[in-house]
Amino acid sequence: MSSMNIPQSSYPRVVIIGGGFGGIALAKKLSKKEAQVVLLDKHNYHNFQPLLYQVSTGGLEPDSIAYPIRKVLQGYPNFFFRLAQVKEVKTDTKRIKTNIGEIFYDYLVVATGSETNFFGNKNIKAKGMAMKTIPQSLNLRSLILENFEQALLTDDLHERDALMNFVIVGGGPTGVELAGALAEIKKGILPKDYPDLDTRRAQINLVQGGDRILPAMSEKASEKAEKFLEELGVNVWKNIRVTDYDGKKVTTNTKTIFEAETLVWAAGVKAVGLKGLDVRELLSRDNRLKVNEFHQIVGLEDVFAIGDVAQMVTEEFPHGHPMMAQPAIQQGRNLGDNLVLLMDGKPMKPFVYKDKGSMATVGRNKAVVDLPKFRFQGVFAWFVWMFVHLYFLIGFRNRVVVFINWVYNYIRFDREARLIIRPFKKQNKVEKNTLMQD
Ligand SMILES: Cc1cc2nc3c(=O)[nH]c(=O)nc-3n(C[C@H](O)[C@H](O)[C@H](O)COP(=O)(O)OP(=O)(O)OC[C@H]3O[C@@H](n4cnc5c(N)ncnc54)[C@H](O)[C@@H]3O)c2cc1C
Repeated sequence: MSSMNIPQSSYPRVVIIGGGFGGIALAKKLSKKEAQVVLLDKHNYHNFQPLLYQVSTGGLEPDSIAYPIRKVLQGYPNFFFRLAQVKEVKTDTKRIKTNIGEIFYDYLVVATGSETNFFGNKNIKAKGMAMKTIPQSLNLRSLILENFEQALLTDDLHERDALMNFVIVGGGPTGVELAGALAEIKKGILPKDYPDLDTRRAQINLVQGGDRILPAMSEKASEKAEKFLEELGVNVWKNIRVTDYDGKKVTTNTKTIFEAETLVWAAGVKAVGLKGLDVRELLSRDNRLKVNEFHQIVGLEDVFAIGDVAQMVTEEFPHGHPMMAQPAIQQGRNLGDNLVLLMDGKPMKPFVYKDKGSMATVGRNKAVVDLPKFRFQGVFAWFVWMFVHLYFLIGFRNRVVVFINWVYNYIRFDREARLIIRPFKKQNKVEKNTLMQD
């Protein structure tokens, strides 16, 4: 037995760090193979990040976008899950240090994903809100609702406006989807919930550093998404970079200043690094682990990386594959096949990414879809967006619950999970933000 009470096996041991899209896809591939699979994650659930914004805006309960990792791989005899935070990788002795002990590996796969990148701005990190994890989304949900409760109590118009002023930094899918959802709440829910507050004064500002939102999508998708947002009453600011935030005032690289009690930072992510692999030669400029076409970390034959944390440079993707769910899933599956080939002493297959397109939703009946051969926007795109997200959600129960919620919300123009379950008080914000960062 190792320190984690995992029995010795005659099969080689594959340790996977991270039960996200990549780690789960890989574990599933290996589950019936002649390998002992040990999956380590600091959470006991898989987090379906694309729907986090719906948790933040009361459209879905957090449980319906999380799924127990143990359940994904129930019934596979060679599979072991341990709830563990990995602290360090020691490639010379092939051991991993975690908060619950050490473990030996024959093959190691790093699938630790990414975290919010504040680009070194400590104030924004401390006072702004991130939306990368379920606790962070719940914090944001509480803060949004608390702001309106607070706005009711003040006679100071300036303060009231700041409480109802939202600044979302980053015009990628996360920023666009969150801005659209907040605008729908403003229009359909706030006037009924707060009849004694002039909620028409609430402002949703989406701030984008570049000259178009959704820059990774087609120009048509960007244009249309911007039009949809404007129809919903979102203020779209382009070519402006947020430079600082003191908890009340958002400053930018222009003369524009926002007085806002809520700033959501959706302007970047960076790979989650691990001690022992944080060596300059192994890392790309954006901190991702450099891998070859077989997912092997440069110079380390038995250590692999997949998903957001990995950078595989190809002619088509000179900066690595996009940090999205599809590359992570496809890489996990390909590596599963390759590890079996490797264990059998056969040559591995190079990874080829099949781009299935990208999409973003702005709100009810409003989405943009770029497929490799077709592009479309509007109602049909919105249905496609919903279908694709339901399809990729893990767990039958989650799909049913999300579907029912969406139908209910559509018919009733409602989002009933607008609950302050765990209050998020501004005065404790710095401390709480740090605690909830994971
Ligand atoms: C708000 C939001 C919206 C998004 N929307 C979309 C979308 O619409 N479409 C799309 O394709 N992509 C979207 N993405 C991106 C997508 O979620 C990621 O690209 C994808 O999750 C990457 O998968 P992964 O397996 O690399 O990492 P993840 O899914 O992030 O999984 C990493 C896992 O590693 C674990 N972990 C990390 N460090 C440690 C450690 N030290 N010890 C133990 N465990 C650890 C984490 O707990 C986590 O479970 C979105 C992301 C966010 C944040």
